[in-house]
Amino acid sequence: MRKLPIYFVLDTSESMVGEPINAVEQGLAAMLAVLRKDPYALESAYLSVITFGTTAKQIVPLTELSQFQTPKLILGSGTSLGAALDLLDKRIAAEVTKSTAQVKGDYKPLVFLMTDGEPTDRWETAANRFMKNRSLQLVAIGCGPDTNLNTLRRITEFVVTGTEANQETLSTFFKWISASVATASQSVDQTGESKISLEKIPQNDNIKIVDETTPQQQIEPNRFVFLHNKCVKTKKFYIQKFMKSGQQAAGFLGLGKKDLYQGAGAFPLDDFEQLGSGGGVSVSSDLLDVPNPCPYCSNETWALCSCGKTHCAPKIKNANDIITLTCPWCNQTATYGLSSFSVGGGGG
Ligand SMILES: [Zn+2]
Ligand SMILES: [Zn+2]
Repeated sequence: MRKLPIYFVLDTSESMVGEPINAVEQGLAAMLAVLRKDPYALESAYLSVITFGTTAKQIVPLTELSQFQTPKLILGSGTSLGAALDLLDKRIAAEVTKSTAQVKGDYKPLVFLMTDGEPTDRWETAANRFMKNRSLQLVAIGCGPDTNLNTLRRITEFVVTGTEANQETLSTFFKWISASVATASQSVDQTGESKISLEKIPQNDNIKIVDETTPQQQIEPNRFVFLHNKCVKTKKFYIQKFMKSGQQAAGFLGLGKKDLYQGAGAFPLDDFEQLGSGGGVSVSSDLLDVPNPCPYCSNETWALCSCGKTHCAPKIKNANDIITLTCPWCNQTATYGLSSFSVGGGGG
């Protein structure tokens, strides 16, 4: 039987934390529910999921639709898009049967690439390869204002974008993907060709097809800072997200400006890929204002241990107050006071 291979290549960088990653998981599940009722899709569609954060991984090998289970997506630092494209090449070579003079191979693979950011590794060589590759169809979906659409346009001519990476937008994308896969599996049955068209995507203020007429978008650099915290009471991991909120005059006579950040959520995570720094920004702690409380113990703020890691902490009210805490990363007990220091946030 000829397979219709469908690869999802999903960004699992930490900037997807919260609503975006939940929306991707829900979108996949909703798509599955729809496709499982489609006799054409059930007959030919095979699905695979590759994720890219700290590293690229194939978390679900190419699997028959009826057997496919929605995977749990694990976030990490960085956006290793180049590694993901290289892995995609390898997995297609291993999992998809090529046509020869004697044998009709599988149908042309369809690839849905979703990302919300800027790659943190070398991606250009892989992009050039995919741009020229006519033996598959790749659709790149940019989610949110930090997506580098110019990068996506270097990989494929099929690019769509949602200006916000929210539940509504991602759900629309997945509905469109379900419909595209359903149409493709019906058309392979009838014409032997798998092809998706971007025209049917519901365009609105938020969702747009990106082509050569789309103006270069301005990406605001370092819009977010992410702290990798552990709770001092439960030792559990969470991500504290800060969003750029304005600028502060800095330096002598107020020359130069510094970006100010405000807490934009604290997200408990069971699993996180710690490796790699992902080329994030490094900012002074006094520019990170109004943190969100620890999602486990409600401690109001966070602190930096001498081991270099951050954790939740109660708020110190007076300049001379000192508190004693045990760092959940290195188990050292130390005293903490008010001070300013530089912390590295993740990127991607
Ligand atoms: Zn805590
Ligand atoms: Zn420590």
